[in-house]
Amino acid sequence: MSKRVSNEKAVVVFSGGQDSTTCLFWALERYREVEAVTFNYGQRHKLELACAADIAAELGVRHYVLDMSLLGQLAPNALTRSDIAIEQKEGELPSTFVDGRNLLFLSFAAILAKQIGARHVVTGVCETDFSGYPDCRDVFIKSLNVTLNLSMDYNFVIETPLMWLNKAETWALADELGAFDFVRNKTLTCYNGVVADGCGECPACKLRCNGLEEFVAGRAAAEGEAG
Ligand code: ZN
Repeated sequence: MSKRVSNEKAVVVFSGGQDSTTCLFWALERYREVEAVTFNYGQRHKLELACAADIAAELGVRHYVLDMSLLGQLAPNALTRSDIAIEQKEGELPSTFVDGRNLLFLSFAAILAKQIGARHVVTGVCETDFSGYPDCRDVFIKSLNVTLNLSMDYNFVIETPLMWLNKAETWALADELGAFDFVRNKTLTCYNGVVADGCGECPACKLRCNGLEEFVAGRAAAEGEAG
């Protein structure tokens, strides 16, 4: 039986990574119609865009790619520039943080959503493993939601299914959605551009792999008890 709870339409902010792909499956189960939007902001790894396009095509989701290359030019960062190391200095935000990214992405996603008659904008931001990114905080999302509603006189609902989950719980959600193998094998989270389990060395891979191990161990223990 379908668990669909809404007869409405949603736009998913989609990068082709673990989190946003899990959100895409979450939205597909929940909404009558789902479309996805990916932002090209000059990522080092063009594979990220190809990955997102492939996943959307495989799931039969209409996919928009919007050019945000200006963001990469305005705010140089380790995701767009190979000469900037991926690091976090004491008391500073990680070099992978991009000023204004979620503000702009969610604003553009909302503009698109209104044009196509969608109210729900789904994003994989998460405060639990947020690495200190200010624009992943729940308070920022709620504030932006109010601003977007006022700016366009429209009742947007920004949905953040991962907001309070850790990485192991995000894997568990993918599993609940029947998408564990898909997410594990087809998504790209790695800062070094390696699909699936990734390079294993970069901060994104470490977070993803630790969560995966924790989830798999928990599942095995639960099966042991049940069996
Ligand atoms: Zn990696």
